[in-house]
Amino acid sequence: MNKVKAEKKAPDSEILAEVKLTEESLTDTTSHSSIPSTKISPVRVKPEIKEENEVAIPPSPKKRRINTPKIKIEIKQEAEIGTKDETKDEEIPQAGEEPKYIPVPKNFFEIYEHVKQMRTKVIAPVDTMGCAEIPLTLNTDIELTPRNYRFQLLVSLMLSSQTKDEINYIAMSNMKTYFTEQGYEQGITIDAIRWVDEKKLDQLIYSVGFHTRKASFIKKAAEILASEWDGDVPNTVEGLVALPGVGPKMAFLTLQKAWNLTLGIGVDTHVDRLSKMWRWVKNKKGPEQTRAELESWLPKSLWNEINPELVGFGQSICLPRGRRCDLCTLSKTKLCPNVDRALLKKVAVMTPEERKHMNRTLRFDPEPLIKDMEDLA
Ligand code: SF4
Repeated sequence: MNKVKAEKKAPDSEILAEVKLTEESLTDTTSHSSIPSTKISPVRVKPEIKEENEVAIPPSPKKRRINTPKIKIEIKQEAEIGTKDETKDEEIPQAGEEPKYIPVPKNFFEIYEHVKQMRTKVIAPVDTMGCAEIPLTLNTDIELTPRNYRFQLLVSLMLSSQTKDEINYIAMSNMKTYFTEQGYEQGITIDAIRWVDEKKLDQLIYSVGFHTRKASFIKKAAEILASEWDGDVPNTVEGLVALPGVGPKMAFLTLQKAWNLTLGIGVDTHVDRLSKMWRWVKNKKGPEQTRAELESWLPKSLWNEINPELVGFGQSICLPRGRRCDLCTLSKTKLCPNVDRALLKKVAVMTPEERKHMNRTLRFDPEPLIKDMEDLA
């Protein structure tokens, strides 16, 4: 019997983990597992709690090919929902291509260390409502089978394009409630999706962008998984990108979280934007080009963790609009080329009340970051 195993770390509200990154420390690939956490209440989760767990991989059915290190696939352009225009003119690099030797950017380790330090003090939406977390936060009342975890992860990823984590969570929650009421004890399953009428499914996921197309893709994907994959999620990039609405980013994240296979970096808009801002990559195109560039120099031990680290940083501190350089320790260095100096001047003369008012929209407690900034002053 396969089970999702969880191990909860003791909360530590006072002392936050010290993060020191060196090239040597990054050679241990086992210390950066991204196996999903479990049993976190989406509402009551405490910021201090971090969880680790393992997903046991079930016996491989006929069509699985776990040992496929050399992948040569045709990644379809415009494969992911809602990214049509962004990738239109992008030359899509192929997974498995031999990377040219490119040195690690000089500022990488220092910037990444700052980001990791800040992330230990911030709980971002991705930490509790990211695609890998949703199946677990939604199903605290049942023991989700590994197979259904994998399917719910895939559905969550298929819903996630052009959609905020919180909105995605609502859609997944609607589906879970409806299917449970209809007698599907595990909630969102391949059988439940095959059974439900497409229009009803569209209604259930109405809150997400491109919901009609996504409903259609999820229905078709469930049929393919049932008929060609023994009712499970593929464990190959080829199998995943062959599903409608699934592109390389989703495929790599699915493999990491569902199968503990690291074959590529999941690059979304935050990872793409921040990598460009810090000049870690040179391309001016889209996430697929950024993925190829990052994969050419980023230590493999970081391929899993870089996505949630940067996504959470981009959701909470360095937002696409309204970045909070006043809370970001990178603004005290010469490492970031995009510091909002006007904001820093404005905040410097604010009263504590004005600052409090300014921080009212934050979705995390900024005090630890404010203290760090004061310590650096
Ligand atoms: S732009 Fe501001 S918030 Fe973003 S990384 Fe630079 S200093 Fe930090």
